[in-house]
Amino acid sequence: MEKHKIYDVCIIGAGPAGGYLATLLARQQVSVIIIEQSPLPRPKVCGGGLSQKSFRQLNLSPAAIDARIISGTYLAFKNKGVFYQEMPGAGYTVSRSSFDHYLAQQAVNAGATLMAPATFRHFYSQGTTAMVSTSAGPVAARILVGADGVFSAVRKQLFPGKKPCLAHAIQARAYPEDHQAIERFGSRTWLDFGAIHKGYGWIFPQRDHFNIGLYKVATTTKNQPLRRLLAEFAAKNPLLQTCRLEQIRGGALPVKPIGAKISRGNILLTGDAAGLCESIFGEGIYYALRSARLAEKSIMDFLSGKSRLEKSYNQKIKIITRELFFSRILADIIYFNSQTTFNWLVKNEWVNQQFTDLIRGINNHSTCLIKVAAGLPLWLSAPRRQAVSPETIFDQPSSSTL
Ligand SMILES: Cc1cc2nc3c(=O)[nH]c(=O)nc-3n(C[C@H](O)[C@H](O)[C@H](O)COP(=O)(O)OP(=O)(O)OC[C@H]3O[C@@H](n4cnc5c(N)ncnc54)[C@H](O)[C@@H]3O)c2cc1C
Repeated sequence: MEKHKIYDVCIIGAGPAGGYLATLLARQQVSVIIIEQSPLPRPKVCGGGLSQKSFRQLNLSPAAIDARIISGTYLAFKNKGVFYQEMPGAGYTVSRSSFDHYLAQQAVNAGATLMAPATFRHFYSQGTTAMVSTSAGPVAARILVGADGVFSAVRKQLFPGKKPCLAHAIQARAYPEDHQAIERFGSRTWLDFGAIHKGYGWIFPQRDHFNIGLYKVATTTKNQPLRRLLAEFAAKNPLLQTCRLEQIRGGALPVKPIGAKISRGNILLTGDAAGLCESIFGEGIYYALRSARLAEKSIMDFLSGKSRLEKSYNQKIKIITRELFFSRILADIIYFNSQTTFNWLVKNEWVNQQFTDLIRGINNHSTCLIKVAAGLPLWLSAPRRQAVSPETIFDQPSSSTL
């Protein structure tokens, strides 16, 4: 880092939003500095589910980020009524620690400066420059980006009093006694809509363990002890019964943008810092990457004198906030009564296809809602699938493993 340099852009946080934005900008010869509080690679509480639409944003090979392909998922309610849904091309599972590190490295390779570990403290304006105070010294930049996650310190200073609406989740690593269990499970995942009230439980295979967890929507007021429910989920699941649980961690997901404006002056927010997670699955990586792309366009327009940063970004981000609005409506419907949803929606192959297409990026939340509502007479009369025995399913070969 040069001492008296004024960077074009200072990004706080090297998660997917920060790392990706830095890469996009540095590739266009913009001078960028990323300030990250943890040394990289750093652990991150996350399921590591990377939807196809997220992956497509990045334009890279799965091998580059050590991604495991997902070919299908078991859908269950309290470990019962299990059936299998083929989901070719739905997405991947990744280790968040490696994934985020890879993105930050890409940024550095493209010419960005990474300052880590260094914690952002506060900023103030000096003329048109943002003066940023960090634990490793001051930084000056023309533009400041808050990509510092759900409890963003940049957001707290930029929009004091605006609090994100939070959903909650818990995640753990489940190590099986029999190491072959992960390979036998292969490229499949498991989603259980009865594991928690108004939410779901997941099992995502990783290289040497299963990433398991519970997600509950923001609107539930029921007090649910997540640790106990996770232990119950693991104890009752045929795949997890003999697993050792480690690194049990809780986390929050901001499922509502903090307002119509997430930029002020020459400062803007991306990803979780702006409150950009969807409500059905708690998917946030896609919106972190997508908001980074929108930020890149607004920043490039601003630097070339074409438009004001605040106006341009607040306008562009509406495409995401509109979609998240529909995700909240869909989540309200889906989780109003999870058992009914499971019986009528999840068990129906056509409805399931619409949600698979949502994960793939063929549907967005509004088209998914419209299609499911318009197709109601059709799918209500369609036969629902029969369950398979959970004890036998793991012996079936998985169609593909990467
Ligand atoms: C339990 C759980 C499971 C999840 N599973 C999934 C999933 O499977 N798929 C999915 O798409 N999404 C998932 N999410 C959501 C996803 O993790 C987030 O939406 C995503 O990480 C947002 O990316 P981001 O770059 O905005 O923020 P983050 O990934 O949170 O990155 C923020 C970065 O900023 C740094 N930082 C914070 N404060 C400071 C500071 N003051 N100074 C310097 N650096 C700072 C942090 O160390 C961090 O590296 C999950 C969330 C939780 C809690």
